[in-house]
Amino acid sequence: MAKTAAVVPEEQHFILSNLTPGPAQTRLALAVVLALLVAFFAIAGRFSGLHLQRIDAFVPMYATAMFVNDSITAVLLFAQFSILRSRALLVIASGYLFTGLVLIPWTLTFPGIFAPDGLLDAGPQSTAWLYILWHAGFPMFVIAYALLKDADPAKRLWRGSTGAAILSSVAMTAAIVCAATLIVTMGNALLPRLLVDTVHLSTLWFYAAGAAALMSVVALIVLWVWRRSVLDLWLMVVMCAYVLEICLISFPVPARYTVGWYAGRVCGFLSGSLVLFVLLYEITTLYAQLLRAVFAQRREREARLVTGEAVAATIAHEVRQPLSAMVTNADAGLRWLNRATPDLDETKTALGQIVANGHRAAAVIQRVRTMFRTGDLNRTAFDVNGLVGETVALVRADLQKHRIVVQIELAERLPQVLGDPIQLQQVLLNLIANAIESMAAMDEPRVLCVKSDVHDDGGVTVSVTDTGTGVGPHDIDRIFDPLFTTKSEGMGMGLAICRSIIEAHNGRLWVSPNKPHGAVFQFVLRTDGATSADTPRREQPKDLPSNSRL
Ligand code: ADP
Repeated sequence: MAKTAAVVPEEQHFILSNLTPGPAQTRLALAVVLALLVAFFAIAGRFSGLHLQRIDAFVPMYATAMFVNDSITAVLLFAQFSILRSRALLVIASGYLFTGLVLIPWTLTFPGIFAPDGLLDAGPQSTAWLYILWHAGFPMFVIAYALLKDADPAKRLWRGSTGAAILSSVAMTAAIVCAATLIVTMGNALLPRLLVDTVHLSTLWFYAAGAAALMSVVALIVLWVWRRSVLDLWLMVVMCAYVLEICLISFPVPARYTVGWYAGRVCGFLSGSLVLFVLLYEITTLYAQLLRAVFAQRREREARLVTGEAVAATIAHEVRQPLSAMVTNADAGLRWLNRATPDLDETKTALGQIVANGHRAAAVIQRVRTMFRTGDLNRTAFDVNGLVGETVALVRADLQKHRIVVQIELAERLPQVLGDPIQLQQVLLNLIANAIESMAAMDEPRVLCVKSDVHDDGGVTVSVTDTGTGVGPHDIDRIFDPLFTTKSEGMGMGLAICRSIIEAHNGRLWVSPNKPHGAVFQFVLRTDGATSADTPRREQPKDLPSNSRL
């Protein structure tokens, strides 16, 4: 039989039942187990056998809290099943629903809560047997979950309607609980005696409770062998808590209303809440991640819009001139041809002009395309210090021509930056070119300083400082706008492109005045966590001292 290929939806990587637990999660789970063990050894022994006063409100309160916890956990796990279609999740969700539902007959039949002998025609043995079925039943769901989780993909994933699967699981689980209730209530007289009176448990209890505890141990082992995910880890903790709860209730005196019995209930409540807490934590974390992703997407879209507007504006601006020149030349050519004696030489000249302007328009479009190629970011982790050195070397001739002193101040052990080095080199080139142009208009000394540093939030800052004309207070808000220029030959696109590139990298670019004159352009980039000292640096240009006059 042909196997169906496993379809692994992208969401799988973000969900509890698929996420691998990190060391922190594992340590926390271990700490919870240790805390439970410490509490167990503190209470267990002679102390746990002490009889306390019977608190009538305790059982309904405990059962209500457990019911709410287990039902919410079941709903959240069913929701995860509807996303991932994993049969294992359907089973564990049904397990939590089972524990939630079984609490209803357990409370109703508990003697002395709603009626002296309990409701539902219960007998003295009913509640104790329900407890055993509950504590042996849930580990069975856990074992089925663990085995199904790694099954063949064809069996692992549910291919039909998820709604129908959830409804039938709920119906089946409810049917199991109803059947169990009927057996323990109607068959009370036939059931082996777990209680000798309404308080004390019989010796048979040890066997029944031992069997339930054994099921939890088996579930724990199966989970341990097949453990992969955060959910597996926490289910293992839950199984540990189940074993401890049964031991607390059973040793040394198996009886109701002892310290061990009350402590066992608290332990049971904690184990019931664990997976719910982890699910809620996961949902909150995923929500925060989602918000961050939405904001990042919005920023990127805005950056692209700016780029798109700038492309349109630049093309319109740059192409208008050659196009109108082409129209004028074509008109002139037609006029030369329409004369009584056509002047072919003038016509040729006009046609030549049309061809030249056509080429110019094509070149302008090509240039604009090259400048705006920010869409296909080729992100790699790279060393900013290396990039600074390479870029300064590229403009060495220009720096020498304008007798500019270059200071390069690079931070040691700089984290690597995640981005497109070609695009970021374009940014640096633009900033340095502007700085050179700005300083060319000023007297010496002309100093260009390029610095790299670690930013407060862990990113990397690069600054380009010049001693040029500086940016006037009126222009400071406009210089990043597309087509804003104060130069007669300027296009006013350089800084707009720089900003859109930096923002496409989730960074920031801004300008501030330099003292006593000039401008400081700075940008911050996100890092990938590794430091430049951990990885090979890009080759520094050999002929470039860190403080040199070029
Ligand atoms: P362009 O260089 O074509 O004018 P830019 O977008 O690169 O386009 O720059 C826009 C404007 O910002 C420039 O015209 C100039 O007025 C100002 N500017 C940019 N860099 C500097 C600088 N280092 N010092 C002073 N002014 C600058």
